[in-house]
Amino acid sequence: MLTKAPRGTKDILPDEVYKWRYVENIIHDVCALFGYGQIRVPVFEHTELFERGVGDTTDIVQKEMYTFIDKGGRSITLRPEGTSGVVRAYIENNLYAAAAPSKLYYIMSCYRYEKPQAGRLREFNQFGIELFGTKLPQSDAEVIALATQFMQKLGLKDAELYINSVGCGECRPDYNKKLIEYFEQYKDKLCQTCLTRLEKNPMRIIDCKNKTCKKIGEGAPMLIDEQCDSCKSHFNDVQRFLGLANVKFGIDPTIVRGLDYYTTTVFEIKYNGVVICGGGRYNSLVEQVGGPPTPGVGFGLGLERLIIVLNENNLFPKMADAVTIYIAPIGEGANNKAFELIQQLRSDGINAQSDLMGRSLKAQMKYADKIGAKFVLVIGDDEISAGEGNLKDMQTGIEKAVKLKDLSDKMK
Ligand SMILES: [Zn+2]
Ligand SMILES: [Zn+2]
Repeated sequence: MLTKAPRGTKDILPDEVYKWRYVENIIHDVCALFGYGQIRVPVFEHTELFERGVGDTTDIVQKEMYTFIDKGGRSITLRPEGTSGVVRAYIENNLYAAAAPSKLYYIMSCYRYEKPQAGRLREFNQFGIELFGTKLPQSDAEVIALATQFMQKLGLKDAELYINSVGCGECRPDYNKKLIEYFEQYKDKLCQTCLTRLEKNPMRIIDCKNKTCKKIGEGAPMLIDEQCDSCKSHFNDVQRFLGLANVKFGIDPTIVRGLDYYTTTVFEIKYNGVVICGGGRYNSLVEQVGGPPTPGVGFGLGLERLIIVLNENNLFPKMADAVTIYIAPIGEGANNKAFELIQQLRSDGINAQSDLMGRSLKAQMKYADKIGAKFVLVIGDDEISAGEGNLKDMQTGIEKAVKLKDLSDKMK
C-alpha cells in the first residue's frame, strides 16, 4: 500500500518531465502572443461552486467529484475542471472592474473519480484559457485561433477543428421541447442516464456514448437548424472571423460538449478522430456563479492526452544533453580539487558533475558515459601540481590538454 500510488495517479519522472516543460513553454509563449495572463487558483473550492458552475446534471458533478467534509464541517471539492475556479476568482477579485476584456490562462491539475484509461487519469492536468467581458464574435474566433496556433506550434498539422452553435436562452427552450418530443418516441430504448437527461437536459442525449442512444441521436433535430436570428448571425460572424484569421474548420452539428453552461459557439479540435481540445462560449456562467452578467468564452485541453499524441507522432525534440563536463578524481587531493572545480564551473553556469559515490576510475568513466557527459577530465596529483589535465571529448574520443584555471572559459 505505502509504496503504491492511488489508482488513477501517475508519477512524472525527469526523463518525461522535460516533455511537459516543452509543452508548457509553448503554452506560455502562445498565450503571451495573444495577450493572456496566467492565473493560479486553489486546488479545492466549496462544493457548491462546481454544482453551480459545472451544472448539477452533469456526470462530473453527479458521479465524479472528490468531495469531502473538512474539519470545520464545510463541504469541499477538489477541482474537477478549470473554468469554475477561474470564474470564482474573476468575481472575487473584481476583475470585471478592470479594463475589459479579461484574458486569462491556466495550467492546473484537476481531479475526477473516473475509470482510469490511457490519457485519462483521476489526477490529470489541463491547459485552458478564459476570455471574459465581450460577446463579440471576434472574441470566439480569437480563442479558437489561439488553440489552433498552439496545435501548429506543437507540430500537430493534421489537427481538425469543428465548430457548432448550441443556441441561447432565447432559442434553446423551444428547441428542447422539440428534442423531448423526438426522444420520447424512443423512451424504451434510451439508456438509464439518458432518461434522466430527457427531463433535465435533453441535448446531452446527442452526446451519449451508448451506441443505441447515439444512433437515435443522429435522427434528432439539430439546434443549428433551429437557432434564433441573433444566434444565427453570431455563428455566421464567428465563421467569417475564423476565415479572416486563416483558420480552417468544419461544422459538426452533433457537438454539444459535456457541460451545461455553453451558449452559442462550441468547438472541438480532433486528432485522428480523438477530441484533444474543447471549448465554447458561456454567457451566463459568471452570473450563475454569483457575479455580474458577464459573457465569456474559453477552452480546456487535457495535457496527458496531448502528450500521448505528441509521443505517438515523434513530435518532441530530443532531451538536451544536460551534463557538460564530468571531472573524475583519483586520490584524496584530487577529490578536493574536483569538488572545488565543479562548484566554480556551476557558478559560471556550466553543468559540471563529479564523484559522489567513491567509485573507482573505471566505474566513474562508465558513469560519465551513462549520464551523457560531453567532456571528461581525469585529475590526479600530477595534474594538480602541473595545473593542467587532459580533457576528453566523449563523442570523438579526442583528448586535449587544458589548464585547470581556464576550464570555465574552455567549456563556454
Ligand atoms: Zn439563440
Ligand atoms: Zn444514453
